[in-house]
Amino acid sequence: MKDLSIHNPATGELITTLPADDAASVGAKARAAREAQPVWAAHSLQQRMRCIEGFRAGVVRDLEQLAQVMTRETGKPIRMSRNELNGLLPRIDFFLAECEQAIAAETVFDEGGMREQIQHEPLGVVANISAWNYPWFVGCNVILPALLTGNAVLYKPSEYATLTGQEIARLLHEAGVPRDVMVCLVGGGEVGGALLEQQIDGVFFTGSHATGQRIAQTVGQRFVKLQLELGGKDPTYVCEDADPQAAAESLADGAMYNTGQSCCSVERIYVHEKIHDAFVEHFVKTVRGFQRGDPAREDTYIGAITRTPQLDVLDRQVADAQRKGAQLLLGGRKASGPGNWYEPTVLVDVDHSMEVMTEESFGPIIGIQKVAGDDEAVRLMNDTRYGLTAGVYTRDESRARRILAQVRAGSVYWNCCDRVSPRLPWSGVGDSGVGLTLSKYGIQAFTRPKAWHLRAA
Ligand code: NAD
Repeated sequence: MKDLSIHNPATGELITTLPADDAASVGAKARAAREAQPVWAAHSLQQRMRCIEGFRAGVVRDLEQLAQVMTRETGKPIRMSRNELNGLLPRIDFFLAECEQAIAAETVFDEGGMREQIQHEPLGVVANISAWNYPWFVGCNVILPALLTGNAVLYKPSEYATLTGQEIARLLHEAGVPRDVMVCLVGGGEVGGALLEQQIDGVFFTGSHATGQRIAQTVGQRFVKLQLELGGKDPTYVCEDADPQAAAESLADGAMYNTGQSCCSVERIYVHEKIHDAFVEHFVKTVRGFQRGDPAREDTYIGAITRTPQLDVLDRQVADAQRKGAQLLLGGRKASGPGNWYEPTVLVDVDHSMEVMTEESFGPIIGIQKVAGDDEAVRLMNDTRYGLTAGVYTRDESRARRILAQVRAGSVYWNCCDRVSPRLPWSGVGDSGVGLTLSKYGIQAFTRPKAWHLRAA
C-alpha cells in the first residue's frame, strides 16, 4: 500500500499522509459493496431518506470545521468554502423532496386486462470518481441521489480533496448509511483505474476531458452506464444595451470566483464594440479590488491554485496570447512565495488563434474580445469543442433568447453566470461530457427503468 501525501496548496506545507488504497483493497471493498447493496435497496425509501436527513444535520452541525478542512486542502477562500456547504443544504432538500416522485412507479397503459408499468430499479454498485474544485457539490450530486435510489457507492474523491471526501463518508456513516454501501477510496488516478476494473454497474465521473476520455475507453467495451461531467470554455456576450458597469462587476465575479477554478467559470467574454472600452475599464477596476491572500482570512477573494501543474498552463496561455498580439492589462504571472499563486489576469485584443480563447484555463485569467454584433458573437461562442454554459447580458429578453437558442451548451444564462440550480439539469454537450446530474432527471439517472407487462389471468 502506498501513502497519499496531502499538501496545503496555499503554503506547500504537508497536512497529513494517509495510507492509500491499492488494487487488492479496492477489489475487497467492491465485493463487500456488491453484497451490501441489495440489503440497502430493500430498505424503504423513507429509511434511506432518514439517513440523508441525518447527513444534512451533520453538515449543519460541523459546517465550520468542514469549511476549514476544505480550505486547507484546496486553497479555497474560507468564505467560499462556507458558501459551498451552505449551498449544499438546498440541494439535499431538493433530493429529499423530489426523490419519491422522481422514481415512483408509473402505469402508462391499462386496457382490456393489460397493464404496462415503468418501475425504477437501482443500477446496483456505482463508481463516483470526482474532482476537487467543488468537492461537496460534485461529490454529493452523485452520492446522494445514488444512495436514495438504493445504490451502493464506491467514491474516489480527488487526491486534492481527499480529507473532504472522507468527511462526506464519515457524516453518511454517522447518519446510518452502512460502511459497505458508502465507501470512500483513498488515492490518485491509479486507484480510480483500479476501481474501473471492478464489477460495477455505473461510472459517474467529474473531471478533465483528458481523464474522461481515458475512462470512456476503459469502460466502453463493458456497456457500463457512463456519465462524464467535464470541462468547459464558457463564453458570455455583452450586448451594447447592457449596463457596462453592472455587467463587468457580475462577470468579473463569474470569471474569478473560486480563483477561476469552477467548471462553469466565465472563461471568455465578447463585448459589443460600442461598450467594449467602458466594460473593460470597469472589469479591470473590479478585479483590482479582489483581495488575494491567505485563504483562511475572511476578506480573501482570490485563493491558491489547487494543482501545481496548472500554474504552467496559465503561464503558457498568457505567453501564447501576448506573442500573438494580446494586450495584458493586469497580472499575467505566478506570484512569488511558497504555495501555488497566480495573479488575476485580464487580456484584451485577443482572438481565437490564442489558447486563452479556446482551451480551458481553470484559473483567474480571462480574455475579452471586441465583436461587431450578435452574429459574430454567436459564431465565436460556438467556435469551441466544449459546451457547458454560455450567457448573454442585454436588457432585451427576446434578443437573449434568440441568441442563446443558437448556442450549443448544456446551460444558458441571461444576465447571470456561474450558477447551478438543483432544480435544473446540469449537463454538457460536445467535449463537456455526456449525461447529467441534478433535477429530477439527475435522480432517475441512478435507476434503470424496467418495463412491466402485466396481464391479469
Ligand atoms: P482530473 O481529470 O485530473 O481528475 C478527476 C478524477 O479522476 C480524480 O479523482 C483523479 O484521481 C481521477 N483520475 C485521474 N486519472 C484517472 C484514471 N486514469 N482512471 C480513473 N480515474 C482517474 O480532473 P480534476 O483536476 O480533478 O478536475 C478539474 C476538471 O474537472 C476541470 O476540467 C473542470 O472543468 C472539471 N469539472 C467539471 C465539472 C462539471 O460539472 N462539468 C465540475 C467540476 C469540475
